[in-house]
Amino acid sequence: MPIIDLHTHTNKSDGALPPNELVQRAVDAKIDMLSITDHDTVRAFDDLTTPIASAMRIIPGVEFSTQWRTLGIHVLGLNVDLSSAALDCAVTFQSEARCLRAEKIAERLASVGIVDALLGAQVEARGGAVGRPHFARFLVECGAVKDTGQAFKKYLGTGKIGDVKQHWATLEQIIAWIKDANGIAVLAHPGKYGLTRTKRIALIDDFQKLGGEAIEVLSGQQDPALTASLAETASAKNMLASCGSDFHSPNQPWARLGMSLVLPKACRPIWHAWDN
Ligand code: MN
Ligand code: MN
Ligand code: MN
Repeated sequence: MPIIDLHTHTNKSDGALPPNELVQRAVDAKIDMLSITDHDTVRAFDDLTTPIASAMRIIPGVEFSTQWRTLGIHVLGLNVDLSSAALDCAVTFQSEARCLRAEKIAERLASVGIVDALLGAQVEARGGAVGRPHFARFLVECGAVKDTGQAFKKYLGTGKIGDVKQHWATLEQIIAWIKDANGIAVLAHPGKYGLTRTKRIALIDDFQKLGGEAIEVLSGQQDPALTASLAETASAKNMLASCGSDFHSPNQPWARLGMSLVLPKACRPIWHAWDN
């Protein structure tokens, strides 16, 4: 059984490992096919230098943030052309949206006396994209709160001073960019949005109508009943199925790199679309 992991993160977004360390770890874990899917960036691929002394295939990928109705959701672009103008457009738009939000959060924090938060969050992000977790760590670092949980409770969570709305590209636009970059749009971890089965199917319906072709049937350690339900939906809609650990860091056993991810038999695996 080949080991296939099509959803992983490096420190170019919120992962712990530099790209080359991730790849080395994947080789050690005997992974046959790996995709790196950082949040709204493909910079990991510029850094890859590790000579791959194995047959491991690396699939260029990215994980975009967007929204469906009022809900924040994630869409993977798998096997995208890294040199395409559409992909460039997509990551530029998303990173500008992220920067604007980070600037706003910092302004809001300054208004309550917490200065230099943007710089502090950038330091925490170590050159990666700045998000709320980096602000949370900065707030701990500067002594404003005692832990990151409190940072969200006091400053960053819903309704607090640093709760700034994120303006991502629309779902329609994200899917169009992925397709223009010759990739396949995959609805990431459909079980992680807190939706009822009915709502989840409504989301998948809309996703497919907008050109989305695949769903992530298996995401890390997952309830087998959910896997069966997603596999059934994928088959009924004639959509491709993907699987990935959503690996961020070696100390998260529920999302282990190289974990066994076996799609139910009825699924049409996304990688069959990449043969030849
Ligand atoms: Mn993440
Ligand atoms: Mn995600
Ligand atoms: Mn992810």
